[in-house]
Amino acid sequence: MLKKAEKILFQYFGYKKFRANQEEIISFILDGRNLLGIIPTGSGKSICYQVPALLSPKLTIVISPLISLMKDQVDALKISNIPSAFINSSLSKEEYINIIKQLRRNKLKLLYIAPERLLNAKFVNLLTNLQIGMVAVDEAHCISQWGHDFRKSYLEIPKFIEKLNQDIQITAFTATATPKVKQDIIELLEMTNPKIFVGGFDRKNLFFKVVKNEDPESYLVDYLDLHKKAPGIIYASTRKEVDNLYAYLRLKHFSVGKYHAGLTDKERKDFQDKFITGDIRVMIATNAFGMGIDKSNVRFVIHRNIPKDIESYYQEAGRAGRDGGQAECILMFYPEDIGIQEFFIDMNKDLSTQLKKDKQKKLEKMVVYTEIKSCLREYTLKYFGDRRIKNYCGNCSNCLGLKDVENNTVDSQKVLSCIGRSKENIGIRMVLRLLLGETSDKILRKGLDKISTFGIFKGYNKNLLEEFINYLISEGYIDQTAGSYPVLKLNEKSFDVLNGNIKVLRRKNEVVSFDYYENPIFERLNEVRSEIAKKEGIAPYVLLSDVTLMELADKKPTNRWEMLKIKGIGNQKFENYGQYFLDVLITEVEIEKLKDNKSKEDTTTEKKYMVDIEKVKYLKESLNLDIDTEELAQAISEIFF
Ligand code: ADP
Ligand code: MG
Ligand code: ZN
Repeated sequence: MLKKAEKILFQYFGYKKFRANQEEIISFILDGRNLLGIIPTGSGKSICYQVPALLSPKLTIVISPLISLMKDQVDALKISNIPSAFINSSLSKEEYINIIKQLRRNKLKLLYIAPERLLNAKFVNLLTNLQIGMVAVDEAHCISQWGHDFRKSYLEIPKFIEKLNQDIQITAFTATATPKVKQDIIELLEMTNPKIFVGGFDRKNLFFKVVKNEDPESYLVDYLDLHKKAPGIIYASTRKEVDNLYAYLRLKHFSVGKYHAGLTDKERKDFQDKFITGDIRVMIATNAFGMGIDKSNVRFVIHRNIPKDIESYYQEAGRAGRDGGQAECILMFYPEDIGIQEFFIDMNKDLSTQLKKDKQKKLEKMVVYTEIKSCLREYTLKYFGDRRIKNYCGNCSNCLGLKDVENNTVDSQKVLSCIGRSKENIGIRMVLRLLLGETSDKILRKGLDKISTFGIFKGYNKNLLEEFINYLISEGYIDQTAGSYPVLKLNEKSFDVLNGNIKVLRRKNEVVSFDYYENPIFERLNEVRSEIAKKEGIAPYVLLSDVTLMELADKKPTNRWEMLKIKGIGNQKFENYGQYFLDVLITEVEIEKLKDNKSKEDTTTEKKYMVDIEKVKYLKESLNLDIDTEELAQAISEIFF
């Protein structure tokens, strides 16, 4: 049976393997067990009930709290030709009738509904006449008063299941791990003999970091500048803070949106929609934002203020990197922000003194997170009762702080010598071009393509290189003049590096790169994806995830078979959309080939000196000249011939 499940996973979802959690959960479900699955956000809960639903001859009903969540999920299923639908208030009458027809004809595999729908007796009656195998409750913590999103209508579910009067398998999924929530879910859903599956809470692709003593505005500006195109969320604790940040970052021309309870429904919806489609890159929001958003390509979540407890922090931060790609969670800590959270607790009249104390304690544990010197991940996971990580994760700011630094001396020497050889009158853009080996009229005119450092970083990622040069400037290894055309100059420290008197040591991995967002092929693929998504009325990352696009840009498949090897592209998706992306890739590969040939021609013509290069080399070495051989050959050619 599991083999069959794997086949379906590959065919419909384009993934070769189940993740460890999924495999176990799905085996239990296929065994017919009722199951409560508690696994972290982004670990792929949907597939846990979707794959069994596809294997069952009967209908699976999925209860999901939010319209936007349902839509994304059903969109994703439909583009893979999985017969599914949702019913909620957003449907027109025709659409509704059409779905009912399909249900009656037993044409659907999955039906998504909001719990409120269960209050509608007519609708429930209709369902009782259908063959239903499983009810899957997504975001099941909503049934618990202790869950952060308690929803009263979730309490209708057991009555509904009883009314169905069939042998129904109940599965429930959440990322909330506290014992009280767990107990509530099992009791309130009246699950008999449930298998409780608690998966590891670690999210390996997330980098955790605490930032202190930085000017908040300039830190954010620098961060957004460095990660120019990566989508992200900035959380702040008050509406006012959100408004201020939004105004400030807009003024700096960043693509930002905002979200808090003080905006109208329409404003909120507009910002949210734009964030989902990628028309807005960064969302600045209070914690009112996020529930019901499955945007999988969020690359960073920055908390401008400390949140109220670790649960909230991990949930909000966890919205980063759902697609499994690299992502960052940064907490900016300022002691005065503790007061805001204390005020929220104090001001809440509904809280008993005991509850206030509990909340105060939780806040204290959140503050400890910013103070510890040991692994941030270990601290967080321990808080949730997961003790598997011990001492050192290697992927948080504290672990990296302990880790060896990276020796960047040689790369620094290359950059410095490029600046030196170009006679020190060029700016950072030009240095980048020279290092990457890009030609321009000016470069050719000035013969800068002849210096020995030309193209010494060929093929290297431009953003990372730029970031590295900026690092050298900020650390004083290079001077940058003021004015509107700043140029780079060597200084004493530069020469110390060049002469090997000092080393350039840098903390490893200090920068997490989201560099694919700046890769031209990724950008082309992204454009095509946006076009299709707009036409189909779905979110772009639902069509193909960013991680899939990155892999496409990386491996550049140019035919069906190569493309099907990419994670996230199954047969069905390929049939529907594969060709659009293939076209882009085939063109890009052709262009690359042409470019390659051209640069080969270029170098062969350029290498035509009037003298024998080997003799020049001999001359240079015997005279102990500190000059590039090619430069010397060129010079001799010009002088003597
Ligand atoms: P959750 O509901 O647990 O937060 P989702 O169901 O939204 O997670 O899935 C998160 C992401 O993981 C989605 O982009 C999904 O396509 C991807 N995913 C799920 N299962 C797999 C798998 N077996 N291999 C690779 N990616 C997967
Ligand atoms: Mg989910
Ligand atoms: Zn760590």
